[in-house]
Amino acid sequence: MQLAVADNIAGLQEALAGVARASGRVALVPTMGALHAGHMALIAEARKHADFVVASIFVNPKQFGPNEDYGRYPRALESDLKKLGEAGAQLAYTPSVEDMYPEGYSTTISPGALGQILCGQFRPGHFDGVATVVGKLLLRCLPHVALFGEKDYQQLCIIRRLVTDLDIPMEIIGLPTIREADGLALSSRNAYLTPEERATAPLLYKTLKSIRTPADIEPAKAALTQAGFKLDYLEIRDAETLAPATSGRVLVAAWLGKTRLIDNVELS
Ligand code: AMP
Repeated sequence: MQLAVADNIAGLQEALAGVARASGRVALVPTMGALHAGHMALIAEARKHADFVVASIFVNPKQFGPNEDYGRYPRALESDLKKLGEAGAQLAYTPSVEDMYPEGYSTTISPGALGQILCGQFRPGHFDGVATVVGKLLLRCLPHVALFGEKDYQQLCIIRRLVTDLDIPMEIIGLPTIREADGLALSSRNAYLTPEERATAPLLYKTLKSIRTPADIEPAKAALTQAGFKLDYLEIRDAETLAPATSGRVLVAAWLGKTRLIDNVELS
């Protein structure tokens, strides 16, 4: 089946009604586009769980702060659609801002405290924007399963919490981070890096992997700072609640020049 494209909610729901009539299982993979191998891994996994895979492409203005990169976030619709077709997705949902937030739109979904720590502390309102758009996408599609990357680990925890708290009846699957050969986590934002910054960037993952105990955190921060990173945070947190912990997950956010990189690993 060829990739169909719906750029509004009516088209989306017409396509989904056809799948429901055929008793098919639906998977949703929400993205902001500029698709890379990390997104494609989500699509490939989605195909194992469903007959009909919907990928959404929407650069969500509500999750960007006023001085963030909403305007310059990479957009590549034509090549994204080609990739989704090749990967075997059935539908690309590419709503406009007006389709997602029509005139009079007012509601915000807030993940509460979980959205105010770690990245939330440095990007106020970011996770309200994420929870709002993901909540809307989940309800618009009502998939059996939705897939997200562990690359955005706090986001994944927040979405798991969201569907539990709001009784949204679907399965959430998190997938391991896909990386470049040198360890750098794939990200649409890697395109912002200068060649020098790109050469330094793999140190982030290398340093994360070197952390074994809480005593390793300060030396790791010093090594990253020495290499030119400006750290927002480097912390060990509980893998589920994200509360401060001595085992669980190591999470980092750091700037290289004008590019903010995030990454995380399980603390082994
Ligand atoms: P984005 O387009 O950046 O909003 O990401 C869309 C989805 O792809 C999210 O669930 C991300 O966590 C996931 N994702 C982004 N980068 C990667 C990666 N390197 N490996 C696996 N999943 C990823």
